[in-house]
Parts: sequence; structure tokens; C-alpha cells
Amino acid sequence: MALVVQKYGGSSVADGEKIMNVARRIARTAQDGNRVVTVVSAMGDTTDELLELAYNVSDSPSSRELDVLLSTGEIVSSTLLAMALKSLGESAISLTGAQAGIRTDNSYSRARIMNIDPKRIVNELDKGNIVIVAGFQGINEDMDTTTLGRGGSDTTAVALAVSLKADKCEIYTDVQGVYTADPRIVSQAVKLDEIGYEEMLEMSTYGAKVMHPRAVELGQIYGVPILVASSFMDKPGTLIHGGISMEGRNKVTGIAHDLNVAKITILGVPDRPGIAAAIFERLAGAAISVDTIVQNASTENITDLTFTIAKSDLGPAMEIVKPLAAEIGARDFVSDSGVGKVSIIGTGIQNTPGFAARMFTALSRESINIMLISTSEIRITCIIKEDKVKDAIRALHKAFELEQA
Ligand code: ADP
Ligand code: ASP
Ligand code: MG
Repeated sequence: MALVVQKYGGSSVADGEKIMNVARRIARTAQDGNRVVTVVSAMGDTTDELLELAYNVSDSPSSRELDVLLSTGEIVSSTLLAMALKSLGESAISLTGAQAGIRTDNSYSRARIMNIDPKRIVNELDKGNIVIVAGFQGINEDMDTTTLGRGGSDTTAVALAVSLKADKCEIYTDVQGVYTADPRIVSQAVKLDEIGYEEMLEMSTYGAKVMHPRAVELGQIYGVPILVASSFMDKPGTLIHGGISMEGRNKVTGIAHDLNVAKITILGVPDRPGIAAAIFERLAGAAISVDTIVQNASTENITDLTFTIAKSDLGPAMEIVKPLAAEIGARDFVSDSGVGKVSIIGTGIQNTPGFAARMFTALSRESINIMLISTSEIRITCIIKEDKVKDAIRALHKAFELEQA
């Protein structure tokens, strides 16, 4: 008997009717002779609504309480799904992250899974139950609830597939798979039949929210192929795996974009050793990830330092930068939350001349100004004005002829 882990996202369980649809799909998988573990996200926009409730009563809600609050969204959907399955005559049981044995570190709102004790899940499977696990959550060593970061139910699913040595890991969502760009923005975007872990990791890290980056990373480390497919249609989907053929290398696979970006510039920074370390150590200490960093060539030993962070981290980052700028003798600092990122991703980008030129030309034809550029072996990212991001994605999709993918 094969063991299948399936994950259903928020829009797939947004109301009672959709939960019944998902229950019928799971029941079919079980009736085909599989042992099934299902991971669910919170219904529809529940997580956003819970966040709003928290910010209605506090400007800076306690991170511990916030994680417990947000975890309830997934508990609601998991219990309803178990009830729906029972109404179809299946044996099913819901488990919270803690009951499922998911242990994390202590970083509230962005916890990482440390290990999983799958005893209870295996026990329930042995009893003939379909097991429904509430996604996006675990417990830390103090038995406090933690959450894995927005979109983290994907990571719950892949981590469970690893821990249970599942035969299949399937992520069901509201699109038919991974596309050359967000199909909600580019109507000509093409669904990919397969994509390698590296490219998918870069796509999701740079904004393609169809997969949580940590889930892709776990898939890659443990060699678990991940199928992304529609929860509404029986269509083939996209397989994320490591055995991509050499054919089709050295080309752009997809365009990713991210609107959760802010830019901070510290002006008139004395150019001496230790200054950058002081800034970025302080930000790292507050668990703020810094992305693109640009330091201008210094004149008379004075330089400007610009970096990007998640827009949602701008408040805490400015709290750090304000006193720090004074400490290091910087002239001033400014922030801009009206920026976004657009990236081209594909194997061999850095080794193939012409990709960068083609990207910059496509953007300039749309009169889009590039503020910052960062690259990796398989990616080029431009920071541009937020309100130009959609035009940029469409222009790049055309320039790299991705509608013919
Ligand atoms: P779920 O609730 O199922 O986890 P998400 O909203 O997190 O779903 O992710 C699916 C969404 O990701 C799609 O509706 C789509 O708008 C967006 N998306 C962004 N980039 C891509 C891409 N390259 N391919 C497919 N979907 C993408
Ligand atoms: N419900 C959480 C979120 O909205 C986790 C998830 O959907 O994966 O981010
Ligand atoms: Mg998601």
C-alpha cells in the first residue's frame, strides 16, 4: 500500500462546498488503496482576518499569542475536513501540529521544523484512519505553538512526506501547477510539466508564492519529488524534482515577482572596516533578512549603503537603523516602501551572455527605471517601482518568448 501526503491550500477549502470537494478527492485516493495523510491550510483568507483581529487590539501583538491565534485557522479547516470525510463514510481523524509530533525552534512567526515524531500519525494510519494534519504549525521545546511563516503549510506537507518516507507528496492548489509567471498577471503564462529544485527554490524565494521556499528546500535536501496540481481539475500538474534533463538548459524558465519589498538607504556612511558588519549583524539579530545590498564607490571616504528587506519588516528595521545611523556617524537615512522585485530565473543565466542586456532592454522599452540589480548563478533581479511590476513581468515574459515554453 502506497503512502500519499496531499496538501490542500486555503482557496481549495474556502467554504463548505469546497471542503466536500476536497473530501471526495481524498476519499477517492484512499479507495484506490492508499494510506493518506492530508495537510490543510486555513479556509480562504482566514489567516489575514485573524491578523487583522490582532492588530485591532494591539499595535505590536505578542508574538507568542499571535502564533497561537494564527494556528487556529488550520485547526478549523482540519476538523471540518475530518467531519466531511466521515460524512462520506471514511474513517478520518484531525491532528494539530503538536499532536502530529511537529517540533520547531523558538522563532515565532517564522519557525523552522527541527524534527517530527510521526508515532501518532503512524498509529492512526495503522487503525485505518485518513489523517488530517493542521498545516503551518508546530510546538517548540516549551510546548508553545509556533507557526512556520506565511504559506508554511507546503512545508508541513513536504516535511511529513520526508518523515513518513511517503511514496508521493502532492500539493493541490487553485492553479494547475507552476507557470512561467503568475498566471493571474500574465494570461499567456504557460504551465510547466516539470521544474528542477534549484530553479523552483529561486522562483519561490523571489516571490512565486505557489510554493513555500522552505518546502522546496526540504524536497531538494531529501530528494522528495513534489507534484503541484489543481484541487479543482484532474490535470497533470508540475513535477518539481532533481532529474531534469540537460535539454532546455541555458534558458529562462520563469519570471518571479515580489511586492513585499522595502528599500532602506543610509547616506553619508564613513567608509571604514566594520561598518557594514555592525549594520547587518544588528538586523540579523532581530531576525530581519536583508536581500539586495549595494554600496556606492566612496568619495572622500564617505559612501551610501542601500539594501532591501521585506516590507513587513520595515517598522522593526527602522527602529534599528535610527539609533545605528547616529552611532556610526552617518549623515541621514531614508526608506521607500513603494518598490517591488522582478526576477528572471533559469539554469545557466550567469554563463550565457545577453540575458542581462535583454532584460534591461525590455524594461527600458517600458520606461521602467531600475533602482538596484542583484544576481545569482540562475537569476537576475531588478528592484523597480512597485506600480511598474506588473508591466515589467508582462514585458519580460514576452522578451524571453516564454509564451512558447
Ligand atoms: P494555496 O492557498 O493553495 O497555498 P497560494 O495562493 O499560496 O495557494 O499559491 C497559489 C498562487 O500562487 C496562485 O493562485 C498564483 O496566483 C500564485 N503564483 C505566483 N507565481 C506563480 C507561478 N509561477 N505559477 C503558479 N502560480 C503562481
Ligand atoms: N494559512 C497560512 C497562510 O495563509 C499558511 C498557508 O496557507 O500555507 O499563510
Ligand atoms: Mg500557499
